[in-house]
Amino acid sequence: MSVDDIVESRRICVCVRKRPLNKQEVARKDIDVVSIPGRGSLLVHEPKQKVDLTKYLENQVFKFDYSFDETATNDLVYRFTAKPLVHAAFEGSMATCFAYGQTGSGKTHTMGGDFHGKHQNSTSGIYFLAAQEVFSLLSHRKYAGLDLSPYVSFFEIYNGKVFDLLNKKAELRVLEDEHQQVQVVGLDEVFVTKTDDVIKLIEMGSACRTSGQTSANANSSRSHAILQITLRRNDRGSTLYSKFSLVDLAGNERGTDINCNDRSTLVETAKINGSLLALKECIRSLGRNSEHIPFRLTTLTKVLRDSFIGENSRICMIAMVSPSMVSCDYTLNTLRYADRVKEL
Ligand code: ADP
Ligand code: MG
Repeated sequence: MSVDDIVESRRICVCVRKRPLNKQEVARKDIDVVSIPGRGSLLVHEPKQKVDLTKYLENQVFKFDYSFDETATNDLVYRFTAKPLVHAAFEGSMATCFAYGQTGSGKTHTMGGDFHGKHQNSTSGIYFLAAQEVFSLLSHRKYAGLDLSPYVSFFEIYNGKVFDLLNKKAELRVLEDEHQQVQVVGLDEVFVTKTDDVIKLIEMGSACRTSGQTSANANSSRSHAILQITLRRNDRGSTLYSKFSLVDLAGNERGTDINCNDRSTLVETAKINGSLLALKECIRSLGRNSEHIPFRLTTLTKVLRDSFIGENSRICMIAMVSPSMVSCDYTLNTLRYADRVKEL
C-alpha cells in the first residue's frame, strides 16, 4: 500500500481480534467457541439447551471490516487498524483508535501497555508501532514542509475524573467554553523527538494506572487510558494540526457480573457502562453525519469531543474477544456493541 492508498480507507472502521486460549483455559479444558472463517467474518458457536434439555450449538455470525484470529500478530493488527489513522493524522484529521472488550480479552496487550513481571513489553504494541510511524512520516518529504512537532499526553479517566499519568496522577478539570471547545486544564503535553521518548513516557504512565479487583480478573483495569499524540505547526505559533488518540477502554463487564456488594464498585461499574454507551452514541452520530453529538454525557466523550466532529475525523474500534466458552456471553455482548458502532 502507498501512503495515499492508506488514507483512502474507511472513516469508521470496526474490527475484531480473538486472542488464543491461555494456559489456564487450556488446563481447564475450556472449549474455543469462536471461529474466523474469512477476513471480515466471525462465528460464535453459542452453547444452548433445547426445551427437552438436549444440548446444541447455535451459530451466531458477525461481519466486520477485519477479523483477526489467534495467530494474528500485533504488527498485522496495527497495519489494518491504527496505521491508516496515523497517516490520516498527517493529512490533518483527528483520529482515534479504541480497544474495547471484556477484562482479560487483550486490550492492553494489543495497545502495548503489557507488563510481564516488572518488565513492560511496550515495544510490540500499537503504541510503539504508531510512535515509530509518526517519526518516520515526520521526515517524509510529503510532510516535511508542514513543519510539524509531535507532543505526547497520557491520562486516564476513572469514575468520571481525569488523572494525568505523566504528572503523578494529578486530578485535572475538564472545561467547556462558549464555543463548545473542551479543554483538560493543565494536562501535560510533552514534546518528543524520537520513538524512545514516547516509550519512556508510556512506561512511566502505564506504571501508575488505576486498577481494581473483579471476579473476571484480579488485575482488571477499571479506567480508560488515553494516549494522545498531538501534531502542532511550528510555523504557525504551535497551532493544533491534528490529534491521534489511542484509547485502552475499561473492561465492559456488567454490574451483575461482578461478584461484589461493595457500593463503590457498583458506582464504578455504572460509570464505565454509562461512558461506553455514550461512546457508542457519539460514534454513531459521527457515522450519520449528525449535527447533534451527545458528547456532554460523560467525561470520556467530552475529552474526545474534538475527535467526533469535523468531516475528516477518523475512528477505528478494535473489539477484543476471548475464545473461551466460559466467556461466551461477554463475547456476544462485545460483538453486539461493535456491530452497533459499525451500523450507519
Ligand atoms: P485486557 O487489557 O483486555 O484486560 P490483557 O491485554 O491484559 O487484557 O490480556 C490478558 C492476558 O492475555 C495477558 O496476559 C496478555 O498478555 C494475554 N493476551 C492477550 N491477547 C493476546 C494475544 N493476542 N496473544 C497472546 N496473548 C495475549
Ligand atoms: Mg488492560
